[in-house]
Amino acid sequence: MQAVVFAGIETMKVEDQGMPELQAPTDALLKVTTAAICGSDLHMYEGRTGLRPGQVVGHEIMGVIESVGDAVASIRPGDRVVLPFNIGCGFCRDCHRGDTNMCLTMNQEKPHAAYGYAGMGPYSGGQAEYVRVPHADFNCLKLPGEPFDAWEDDFILLADVFPTGYHGAVLAQVKPGKSVAVFGAGPVGLMAALSSWIRGAAEVYCVDFIPERLEKARELGAIPVNVRDGDPVEQIRERRKKSSGFTAGLRPGEAGKLSGVDCVIDAVGYQARSHRNYQQESPTQVLEDAVRLANPAGALGIVGVYMAPDPGGRDEAARQGSFVLPLAQIFDKALSIGLGQCPVKRYNEALRDLIVAGRVHPGSIVSHRIPIAQAPDAYRKFDRRSDGYTKVVIRFDQLRAA
Ligand SMILES: [Zn+2]
Ligand SMILES: [Zn+2]
Repeated sequence: MQAVVFAGIETMKVEDQGMPELQAPTDALLKVTTAAICGSDLHMYEGRTGLRPGQVVGHEIMGVIESVGDAVASIRPGDRVVLPFNIGCGFCRDCHRGDTNMCLTMNQEKPHAAYGYAGMGPYSGGQAEYVRVPHADFNCLKLPGEPFDAWEDDFILLADVFPTGYHGAVLAQVKPGKSVAVFGAGPVGLMAALSSWIRGAAEVYCVDFIPERLEKARELGAIPVNVRDGDPVEQIRERRKKSSGFTAGLRPGEAGKLSGVDCVIDAVGYQARSHRNYQQESPTQVLEDAVRLANPAGALGIVGVYMAPDPGGRDEAARQGSFVLPLAQIFDKALSIGLGQCPVKRYNEALRDLIVAGRVHPGSIVSHRIPIAQAPDAYRKFDRRSDGYTKVVIRFDQLRAA
């Protein structure tokens, strides 16, 4: 079978690999219909993880079940399913509590596991024609419809970016009537904006510096804020002052004590760019902006990735993932902060049902559908954010048709 393999820094290759086999009676074998390329795959591509060459990558996976082990009860060959990128066992303490992002049994090294990802256990990735699914009863989410139907682009986003964006909105305590700013209008940021509407936000801003992404944000009903037009915190403050929602119910003098918005979502992570120089990485730029922008007693939801060890960090502290933060300001404003990998299984069923009911259409952010042979080139273009590469999905109907 064909698979996308990490072959070294800035080099992905499509190689023939042996077919995966069932290794336990609880496993299933999935014939992949769509696998997405994720911004976090670029961390591996750029050599920002300790990944060794030879790994089949890809953690955003959906398809049709090919075969199941003897102990699999709820999933049958022919079922259409999407997989949470986190692999859970379903029986450990954390899986029982719904914290499948912290499963205690699936990774020998630490509590979390994923398909095809550095440091996330020995699981082969799903940017491949087939993938092995451990604990299939627990990890498969069943989907209606037929492979490659109009829902295919929507459903593939249930593997990671839609639930991750939703988790950002939960961590940022988005509720009805809240004002929200999302930093990063990549796929996760766009899904965080959509999720803020789902959770009842009154006003949503999206910050980025790439025009195609800001246009997508506008299509999703958010107010786009281009960093190239100046300090995004000041831009949002100025617009907030003009919005009636900002001053509603306030007495004179109170508005001046507010900073901007109630909820801030970081959908960028440690590869944030400096405002002054977009070429220059500034790992804490978004966090500093978030702290300045959040209203007193506001909340930050951090779902952009902060990861160590980072061979590409600019100094020893950064390589270990240690950064300086304005903690006194965070304390002074009594900000709540939530962060970490999304427990996809906590949300994917509800979000699937919103898609099926026709209430949301997350697949509108998919910019490119490619056959697997074009994956190495797509990584290059996505890494440069060129040609409007926002969300790229590898479609296997194109492979099989060819
Ligand atoms: Zn992902
Ligand atoms: Zn578990």
